[in-house]
Amino acid sequence: MTSQPDGNSAQLKPTISAEKISLTPPKGTYDLLPGETELWQELEDCARRVFSSGGYREIRLPIFEHTELFKRGVGETTDIVNKEMYSFSDKSDRSLTLRPEGTAGVVRAYLNGGLHRWSPPVKLWYAGPMFRYESIKTGRQRQFHQIGLEAFGSAGPLIDAEVILLAVQFLESAGVTNLDLQINSIGCADCRPAYRQELKAHLEPHLPNLCADCRQRFERNPLRMLDCKIAADQAYYQAVPVSIDYLCPVCQSHWHGLKSILSAQGTKFKVNPRLVRGLDYYSRTVFEVVTSSPKLGVESTICAGGRYDGLLEVLGGKQTPAVGWALGVERLVLLLDRTVIRLPLVFIVSSNQIEALKLAVELRKAGISCELDFPATGSEPRKLTKQLEQANKSGALWAVIQGDEELAADELTLKDMRSREQKRLSRQQSLQFLTALEPPNNCDEQREKPVK
Ligand code: ATP
Ligand code: MG
Repeated sequence: MTSQPDGNSAQLKPTISAEKISLTPPKGTYDLLPGETELWQELEDCARRVFSSGGYREIRLPIFEHTELFKRGVGETTDIVNKEMYSFSDKSDRSLTLRPEGTAGVVRAYLNGGLHRWSPPVKLWYAGPMFRYESIKTGRQRQFHQIGLEAFGSAGPLIDAEVILLAVQFLESAGVTNLDLQINSIGCADCRPAYRQELKAHLEPHLPNLCADCRQRFERNPLRMLDCKIAADQAYYQAVPVSIDYLCPVCQSHWHGLKSILSAQGTKFKVNPRLVRGLDYYSRTVFEVVTSSPKLGVESTICAGGRYDGLLEVLGGKQTPAVGWALGVERLVLLLDRTVIRLPLVFIVSSNQIEALKLAVELRKAGISCELDFPATGSEPRKLTKQLEQANKSGALWAVIQGDEELAADELTLKDMRSREQKRLSRQQSLQFLTALEPPNNCDEQREKPVK
């Protein structure tokens, strides 16, 4: 808080001195400041546009849920539940957890909100912060943001292809290039047990050489071993048996169906036979969108998803086919590495502040973005030349000048800030002229950046 030069400073003084408070946010979290939020807003708009064009509707859910939901819905054997959850007891001793991911909450709301009675498929998307206690590095935070999409009620590979294509369309519309789509099938409850046995038999002799996490996964969740990030372990996972060689006829037909649908769309993909999701309720299709961009460091996965036909039963619903994905917005932003600049169309330069504000309100109501001069000190308007300097710094395309003469004649002078040409029009004509202008292209690199 700044003290005012008007004698009220004693009253306004903060009661806690700033030195005592850490101004850095908690580890793994960060502030998104103006200059950064514009790109985030653009991505959110893009998500809304792409997903609603496919009939996917937004769902907004609590940021914390009962801990049990994630224990069951994400799975007790996962890193998320074992190591990464922000769980706490509230004042009534309920165990609550900041959501580490979106799907469990979406399924809970689908069941609780009666969406299972809607005509299938029920197609939903969400966006928001997630929380995981993780080691921090580039593209890995403790509060991070996901955009996700889920479709319930259709069992065939067509909808797997649709959700994958929407992920690709969203990422491409956001401006990502060089995407690498990887797909795999991990079978179902019928064929996976035989595969799991083969995998275990192959890996058992190597156990003493593998990391401690993988030795644990061997018993509880052997498929997850293939998702190990430890470099030294990788050699042991190169020649493992792969799930697509063990698919039952139904899974095989789903797998071939997915590949031919994607091919027919002209979508490039790679089969990555070691791509896994380690939980029993996942079935058949799993996929990731990865990039080799050095901007992401080692965190090359932007988007991960799959079919989870068993999850609704795990959470108390009827068996329901379901497929979805989630992508990390921070990783997307790192990859895009660009800034969106939003500049006003108009800056008002006026000899009368009250009239300037009145005009600003009128222009804004007409959909014209406009700003005006606010002197840092004193209560008189600054000289018009000073205000024009301000107009220049704001990056506005037009200065609307309202000097004493214009005010007396109910006219305005419109100055094109690029060509420096100006014209005087009646207030009515000015409004018509400005309304007819194209809204400023906020991404236009040609426009000068405002001076900070
Ligand atoms: P990883 O293997 O990288 O830990 P994950 O399997 O835990 O990923 P998912 O739960 O599938 O990740 O989440 C989907 C996406 O969300 C990831 O591909 C990534 O883009 C993003 N994501 C996950 N965890 C984080 C995090 N801690 N910080 C930033 N983004 C994250
Ligand atoms: Mg993780």
